[in-house]
Amino acid sequence: MQKTIGLIGGMSWESTAVYYRLINEIVRDRLGGLHSADVVMRSVDFDRIVKWQKAGEWGKAADHLADIGRKLEAADAGCVLICTNTMHLVADAVADGCGIPLIHIVDVTGEALVAAGAKKPLLLATRYTMEQTFYRDRLKARYGLDAVVPDEAGRAVVHDTIFNELCCGKVVERSKQAYLDVIEKGRAAGCDSVILGCTEIGLLISANDIDLPVFDSTTLHATAAVEFALGSQPQSKVA
Ligand code: GLU
Repeated sequence: MQKTIGLIGGMSWESTAVYYRLINEIVRDRLGGLHSADVVMRSVDFDRIVKWQKAGEWGKAADHLADIGRKLEAADAGCVLICTNTMHLVADAVADGCGIPLIHIVDVTGEALVAAGAKKPLLLATRYTMEQTFYRDRLKARYGLDAVVPDEAGRAVVHDTIFNELCCGKVVERSKQAYLDVIEKGRAAGCDSVILGCTEIGLLISANDIDLPVFDSTTLHATAAVEFALGSQPQSKVA
């Protein structure tokens, strides 16, 4: 029997919708027929989270998401996923606050990079993820990866596109070109791979657009959830 997957979503719902579809598609591919995933989800009001992000009130966000983690556990979830890279800044609080495993997005991404032989990935993400240390430090400490972030102008365009366009359901062609320019600079600077380290970026660009190997955190995270639910999740991916 499948374990129930617990999702903390809504950050933004544009990418949570992708998680929900991917998780169900992967279960259907693996089990066939009319099989679908056993999921319990709480989708938050993203505006509230964004206000805490802008104010640096990460403790309030941690308390809120940890409370949701406990509620998902009470609703029979066997694991919990925070469906955003940025809010993994408070992943420890969520993991510590509930008695079920948290499937950590940095770990599933790091393991995929290592398996592919990547060493110096370009990290595209929100400013919080690119400029604070929680993400790159974990990639370095656990996987030996030297993640590189774009320069200030590149970080600005990547971040602003996420919040002003992708989280609002807008896919703009010139922003896609701006991302490809940022990636080209990264490649010229020696990056050997690209992390789509924000769950909305896959709405804008995909592996087909890019010469370097691409690691989409959304796809990797959703796949890891299904592996857990079907009992094939390696223990190392579980925080
Ligand atoms: N979904 C995005 C991420 O993966 C950004 C939204 C947020 O700030 O949580 O980081």
